[in-house]
Amino acid sequence: MTTKQILYVEDDAAIVMPLKYALEREGWQVTWVSQGQLALAETQSRTFDFIILDVGLPDIDGFEVCKQLRQYCHTPLLFLTARDDEIDRIVGLEIGADDYCHKPFSAREIISRIKSVWRRMQLSQNAVSATSPENASLEIVQELEAVWQCLPERLQILYFGEALQLTRYEYGLLKFLIDHPTQVFSRQQLMDHVWEHPDHSLDRTVDTHIKSLRAKLKKVRSELEPIQTHRGFGYSLELK
Ligand code: CA
Repeated sequence: MTTKQILYVEDDAAIVMPLKYALEREGWQVTWVSQGQLALAETQSRTFDFIILDVGLPDIDGFEVCKQLRQYCHTPLLFLTARDDEIDRIVGLEIGADDYCHKPFSAREIISRIKSVWRRMQLSQNAVSATSPENASLEIVQELEAVWQCLPERLQILYFGEALQLTRYEYGLLKFLIDHPTQVFSRQQLMDHVWEHPDHSLDRTVDTHIKSLRAKLKKVRSELEPIQTHRGFGYSLELK
């Protein structure tokens, strides 16, 4: 097993040291940077298993860092925040955070949050591989493979051979629909399967992500609409 890599973005060294030490005691390797730009540079040059991101940074704030890095990186991310209004932004704006901790926090709390995110990822991976596509008929699988290619180890999906630039939740939604072709799912079902905090999210969150997903698929094949809306119920992925 390879050592888990954690990126820790925080400018206040007095806060950093105890947490960094506690994370390293878990056997994880911690890369500490004190600025948003450095966090973006790190995530562009290598892969991490987890990111801890302070909202208040000296150059660009944590929200902006998160927004930018979600364009290319789907690593689970936990925000550190000192203010309640920041929590509202994290939850309300769906900026791609997996969790947050309020300052002051205990190292033990952060460690348990990280472990729980990893555990959920493992569970959802197992669930998806258990249901997909073996139980679909051979024809469906062949048709699917002609159009979609999933590279789960890279969190990437190719559509007609073209790599889609997806956010974390767009990827999760599309992967789930591809794994269950032609099945109709309600918004709530999609949310329960794809979102990590379904209780914090609204139904229209699913619609928003489906809309942006469709726009990205249209860019590849403008004449096709693989994601179908079922009025009053939800969505499905159709093969033709
Ligand atoms: Ca700070």
